[in-house]
Amino acid sequence: MKRIPWPEAIAPAAYKINDDTVHSTIFDDPYFSKSGGLAEKRHVFVEANHVEDRFRRSKKVTILEFGFGLGLNLLCTLDAYGSVDSDCVLDYVAFEKYPLTKDQLRECLRASIGKHAHAESVIAKLPPLISGFHRIILSPKIILTLIYGDAGSAIKELDASVDVFYLDGFSPKKNEDLWSPHLFASFRRLAATGASFSTYSSAGAVRRGMAHAGFDTQVKTGFAQKKEMLVGVFSDKVQTNRQPVDNVRIIGGGIAGCSLALRASELGLKVTLVDSGRAVMGQGSSNPLPLVRPTISLDFGPRGQLSWYAYFYAMRLYRMWSETQALGWQEIGAIQLAQTGEDYSKMRNALKVLSLGQDFLKCVEQGSSALKGLSARISGGVLISPVGQLSKCQTGFAEALRNQSIEVLTQISLSDLDRGDFLGERRTTSEVLPLVLANPQTAQRLVPAVDLRLQPIRGQSTRVKGMGKRLRFALCGDGYLSALDDGSAWSSGTFDLNDESEEIRAKDNLLNLNRISNWVDSIGSGRNDLVTESWVGVRYATYDRMPHVGSLSQGVYALTGLGSKGFTWGPLAAEVIVSELLGLSCPVERSIKKRMSPLRFG
Ligand SMILES: Cc1cc2nc3c(=O)[nH]c(=O)nc-3n(C[C@H](O)[C@H](O)[C@H](O)COP(=O)(O)OP(=O)(O)OC[C@H]3O[C@@H](n4cnc5c(N)ncnc54)[C@H](O)[C@@H]3O)c2cc1C
Repeated sequence: MKRIPWPEAIAPAAYKINDDTVHSTIFDDPYFSKSGGLAEKRHVFVEANHVEDRFRRSKKVTILEFGFGLGLNLLCTLDAYGSVDSDCVLDYVAFEKYPLTKDQLRECLRASIGKHAHAESVIAKLPPLISGFHRIILSPKIILTLIYGDAGSAIKELDASVDVFYLDGFSPKKNEDLWSPHLFASFRRLAATGASFSTYSSAGAVRRGMAHAGFDTQVKTGFAQKKEMLVGVFSDKVQTNRQPVDNVRIIGGGIAGCSLALRASELGLKVTLVDSGRAVMGQGSSNPLPLVRPTISLDFGPRGQLSWYAYFYAMRLYRMWSETQALGWQEIGAIQLAQTGEDYSKMRNALKVLSLGQDFLKCVEQGSSALKGLSARISGGVLISPVGQLSKCQTGFAEALRNQSIEVLTQISLSDLDRGDFLGERRTTSEVLPLVLANPQTAQRLVPAVDLRLQPIRGQSTRVKGMGKRLRFALCGDGYLSALDDGSAWSSGTFDLNDESEEIRAKDNLLNLNRISNWVDSIGSGRNDLVTESWVGVRYATYDRMPHVGSLSQGVYALTGLGSKGFTWGPLAAEVIVSELLGLSCPVERSIKKRMSPLRFG
């Protein structure tokens, strides 16, 4: 089986600033023309590809840049987008092998272009220097996907329908890899009908490579002292561009369905959300205090990778949504505890790959101050900061849906996909496509021909009072313990395979209390007197613990099987589906998307 590379720490850029130019010391080449960075990028890329005009004419424009560098092309493109009165979706994808840290970027931009209206809002959302795909929502209709790593190998993992190619790597003489025939050949797969490209280079090899990839090339006047540059239009056989849709119906209003409904609506789709309960977020997603966090493990497969991508994405998205919605969003620190010395050394090994230098991860040894007040049996752990927690999901998401004017139909249960009288609308299923199934409880019944292998796992959480300030961090291990501002905490949760019962069980409260006494020093076992509330939910997990995200049949999609990770994985899984509906670039690697296919079990 092909091994999917796990995200790993990557080396930042190295550069020198001379007056107002920035020179890469890795490639021994400047990042932009001495005659003006922004002016050069505007001329060579934005104007040569008629980007403003594309924003006026199209519902979406996907731009693929090679060499994100200082982000000048993105800034110019954002200027162009802002100058046009359009509700086009800007889908900007950029490869970068040696990204700059946030502080490096601030320094370089200050030296080269001074203040720019969009610079700080982009920098604030940049991901840590970890390889792989990073989806960033700059504003609801402006999406940036940064792919950190070597473009030559990562390009085969990109699934996109590209309208504009910006070829802006360091010069072909200094950076041969980025101008290789193999890379150009992949443009044929990625180019949309009418795609164009431009580059400051007019080297013969580039011209031949682009012609071979199916582009009619043309030499034009370059910027400032450069006599020539190259542009071209994709003229190969007409590609069948995906037909974007203008509406979507979603079955199931848990975190998966709500995340999709909100993003789809933000991106301009008309959304109908249907739920069999009295209100949205009523079943598994009524969880009173879910955490949004990665899992530190030696799982270097697609699950481990998805866990990191989803965590970074969900943190950014909830942060953005919570600016306008009361989701009870809080960013805190969490310690993933090691119960044995062996566990701890496994965690350390996993973290070596990601580099302990990352500022959001820190190993904490037994006896360190971060573990003060916790049981001496704990052998250490990893402090992850920030992680997120949500304490007002039910009210917050219901209000968010209302604010987006999303049609929400409750107490309606979809029971048969093939019946003509679909949801009482007297229309066949084929007339109400696209349809997304985000209803783990009944999804299998609706698609009996597909083996979804969903397994229910009941879980009970227990709220205890009197934790005071004992919990400085959320604690995670076989379950988790996280505090609220009033001094209470939720201990979560139990794990009963193939059990869908909603009854509250005293023995489960006891298990949750044991977790507390095992982890926290001063709380003895069996403190039933501390219990103030209990909650039960059912997780629906697949056999391989990867979610079901993708097409079931023409126009019918699955967004389910999120197991015990729905609040962390749901937003990114929803972004995969909405991208497919709108013909936007996929936020994860093709190989990961394939591993999430709901058809994988047959
Ligand atoms: C104890 C416990 C602790 C957890 N802690 C965390 C955590 O810390 N972090 C985390 O990320 N995740 C956590 N989870 C997992 C998380 O709660 C789930 O993964 C998530 O809620 C699943 O969301 P969903 O949208 O897929 O499903 P649900 O929230 O169950 O939503 C599905 C919706 O579909 C509706 N529906 C079903 N059938 C139909 C039909 N035929 N027609 C119409 N509507 C239908 C249902 O009414 C329901 O509202 C925890 C789970 C448990 C049990």
